[in-house]
Amino acid sequence: MPLFEYRCEGCGSVFEHLARSAGEKPAACPRCGAKKVEKQFSTFSAHQAPESGLPSCASGSCSAGACATGACPFSAS
Ligand SMILES: [Zn+2]
Repeated sequence: MPLFEYRCEGCGSVFEHLARSAGEKPAACPRCGAKKVEKQFSTFSAHQAPESGLPSCASGSCSAGACATGACPFSAS
């Protein structure tokens, strides 16, 4: 069963809810009881690479790990 994360629009707390079906929503926030809850991105998608394109050497921390040596294959120059 998929585990979804929800954020309460009332108190802002984030909680997890085990859904038995894809469209199921938790009835209310377990903390304050508000029924306005917003589904968050799952923890699975949170670990995927961003869709913004190639890693950037500008930050000095691209995935190649060779920015500091000047031999990074992703370097623009
Ligand atoms: Zn709440």
